[in-house]
Amino acid sequence: MNNGDVQFETSVIHHGYSSRKHHDSLTPPIYPSSTFAFANAKQGEERFSGEQEGYIYSRLSNPTVKILEERMAELEKGDQALAFSSGMAAVSAVLLALTKSGDHILCSKGVYGCTFGLLQFMQEKYAIGHDFSNLDTEEEIRKRILPTTTCIYVETPINPTMQVIDLTLLSGIAKEYSIPVVVDNTFSSPYLQQPLALGCDLVIHSATKYIGGHGDVVAGIAVGKKDIMTTIQKTTQKDIGGILSPFDAWLLLRGLKTLAIRMDRHTENAAKVFSFLKQHELIDKIYYPGDPDHPDYRIAKQQMKKPGGLLSFTIRGGKEMAQKLMDSLQLIQIAVSLGDAETLIQHPATMTHAVVPEENRLIMGITDGLLRLSVGLEHADDLCRDLEQALSKTLAASKMV
Ligand SMILES: *Cc1c(COP(=O)(O)O)cnc(C)c1O
Repeated sequence: MNNGDVQFETSVIHHGYSSRKHHDSLTPPIYPSSTFAFANAKQGEERFSGEQEGYIYSRLSNPTVKILEERMAELEKGDQALAFSSGMAAVSAVLLALTKSGDHILCSKGVYGCTFGLLQFMQEKYAIGHDFSNLDTEEEIRKRILPTTTCIYVETPINPTMQVIDLTLLSGIAKEYSIPVVVDNTFSSPYLQQPLALGCDLVIHSATKYIGGHGDVVAGIAVGKKDIMTTIQKTTQKDIGGILSPFDAWLLLRGLKTLAIRMDRHTENAAKVFSFLKQHELIDKIYYPGDPDHPDYRIAKQQMKKPGGLLSFTIRGGKEMAQKLMDSLQLIQIAVSLGDAETLIQHPATMTHAVVPEENRLIMGITDGLLRLSVGLEHADDLCRDLEQALSKTLAASKMV
């Protein structure tokens, strides 16, 4: 069958791998070899010159990693994918490849804490500037594009307030200026959102999250059109060297097989947790793209298959109450990261976004009472019960003082 003939749920299991080519091994083998032996000197010469395809050295390409890259390219509908040792290795390889000193990056108003750190670093060290914008109207987008802008970098939904950016609108305008649009698609996974199909140029994943899905690997992926990806592969991936190990690639291939069914369950559970939290007296604001009251509900519905497994909320009483709630939970684990089987709760102001100065945090909507939940794969009733008992304890404690 042609690749184009099968559905996403089939591609996550089969694409890019043929057991016939690997001694009939049903699951992909791990090739730990750092280097590859040439049959003769001529073949070595031809591999290096590119006349002959084949492996040379695992920082340049590795057979196990390549299966993962081909599968991810198919899932995101891109020409080529590259795998990295972490999400941040992917983010930095992409941003450094697309910019030079004096250039400007236009960013969504919220970005991952370490991406924020990287942008600061690039500004201080290499004079590569950046601005943050809501990017919510055509006028705003056009106003924010500078003559020096060489990259538009967005997350959507944005961590942790779940603002959704209209990728069709954004990529349509960016095309007029020939500026590539890079989307950090970590929160959605390709099952829920495919930015390349909406006209964007490059997709990044922290594969540590939903792609792996089991909290046992740190990894990154970038997917895009052939020309950009080849540039990245030959420069910031090859020469900076944040490549993925074959064993970690194998873990991701294993995790990917259940991506579609996991995302369905994450989404179902998150919807139930949302309904429970929405009516609770201690909850002030709640941010969830599946909430009909969410300002970006309609855009989310248009460009995402489902609203996903993440939601944030603010608790009345600020940091003290937020910490009390976290400490009262029995089943839900206090941990950063997301997309695991376990439901995780974290406090962005003191954890993932602690490196972001308070002033910027507040612009991003990260107040001291904000908590983020990555809803896992447990039974939704158990999750709601755990939240209920923890909220009751928190409420009782607040009435005592
Ligand atoms: C976790 C995360 C990253 C960074 O990925 P690592 O694998 O931890 O390096 C980047 N973007 C988003 C949205 C993330 O959640």
